[in-house]
Amino acid sequence: MTDSRKNYEALLMSMENAGEALGFAPADIAPVIHPQREIKVTLPLELDSGEVRILKGWRVQHSDIRGPFKGGIRYHISVDLDEVRSLATLMTLKCALLDLPFGGAKGAIQVDARKLSEKELERLTRAYIGSIYPVIGPDRDIPAPDVGTDARVMSWIMDEYSRLAGSFSPGITTGKPLILGGSQGRNEATGTGVVIVTQAYIDYRGWNREELRIAIQGSGNAGFVAAQRLAADGLKVVALSDSSGAIYAPDGLDVAKVGELREVARINDRTIGRMSDLELEGVTHLSNEELLTVDCDILIPAALENQITARNAEAIKAKVIVEAANGPTTDKADEILDRRGIAVIPDILANAGGVTVSYFEWLQNISREAWELETIEAKLQKQMETAFSDVIAMAETHEYSLRKAAKMVALSRLAEARRLRH
Ligand code: NAD
Repeated sequence: MTDSRKNYEALLMSMENAGEALGFAPADIAPVIHPQREIKVTLPLELDSGEVRILKGWRVQHSDIRGPFKGGIRYHISVDLDEVRSLATLMTLKCALLDLPFGGAKGAIQVDARKLSEKELERLTRAYIGSIYPVIGPDRDIPAPDVGTDARVMSWIMDEYSRLAGSFSPGITTGKPLILGGSQGRNEATGTGVVIVTQAYIDYRGWNREELRIAIQGSGNAGFVAAQRLAADGLKVVALSDSSGAIYAPDGLDVAKVGELREVARINDRTIGRMSDLELEGVTHLSNEELLTVDCDILIPAALENQITARNAEAIKAKVIVEAANGPTTDKADEILDRRGIAVIPDILANAGGVTVSYFEWLQNISREAWELETIEAKLQKQMETAFSDVIAMAETHEYSLRKAAKMVALSRLAEARRLRH
């Protein structure tokens, strides 16, 4: 059985258990947890050389019980249908937890986008949108960027959909460039959301901010924005990594300086492990594995899935893990952390800032408005703090882990919406 199959089955089982604990009969919960529609597409891609390659793609529309399907499009060589199913399911839960009027979906093409020219990428994107056109739309299913796709890809999606529909349709996708109806604050939204829930947890626990040490795995869109904002707020980021390695400074890293050095290197990825001690005073280099078990209070995995596993969960020293990445903790690791009393703020809450500002982008598009950054940040703060409080209330009432509580809040909203509609 593939890992993605195992992960998907574990997710289904956890939702069935949560549904049972909420008092729903299996027959009532099944329609809420299984995908409503799965589309497989075959995409012939003509390479610049003239050669034609046949690629596989999917769009899994998990649920539109609470609003149009919503979810990113991933271009990755090892993606498969089970991975897309899991990600689509998590989107449904995330939107319900944040109380956004959206359901969940995810799309993917099995391809290494880095090996395609810009023209090939554009042709592929347009072909994909052409083949799922009948089931997407600003009120039906709204894509967004994910691993391997970006604002440029979203521009082509918007253009292709508008061309096929015969009308200017910025609301078909979120994560667009500003000039095409993108939103202020969308790029930083995930990292900002991570910071909002981290601060909310610190306040909830009554911890002294000055004494806290934070380690962050991954310095991309989610991880580095979180690092910059936490440091700017006076918190101590002691360790930071990217795919090239990690740096550690027990008294706190100069995150602004790390940012400057990355600018100079002109690559935002694969630079941290190569930063020399001359450039950054007082840092020690660590391996990526060592970063996860470094002495810290808050650990923020913001890189890939399946990073915290049964192999390293016993050695983790943090008191709380804030899941900026999707699925960074395996089920086995989760059990170990739970037993050790290490709290986990789950991905569906911690990284929901991105989809929340996507919702704001969509609202601006359909009402032809452009909001100011302050408005967006204030709304994001409120939406995330409310979801955080809902999770804490559920966890305290039933003595659930934060992950279970977040699932329960989301599932109860979904099941109730379905009950009222049927
Ligand atoms: P990104 O590609 O911008 O950054 C990923 C970072 O992880 C890079 O710095 C990369 O070098 C690093 N990395 C890769 N392998 C690593 C390893 N083995 N050890 C340490 N670092 C490693 O991606 P992103 O947008 O920041 O997304 C990161 C995670 O957050 C993903 O799981 C993604 O699904 C999730 N997420 C992102 C958003 C968003 O809006 N960007 C929203 C929700 C969830």
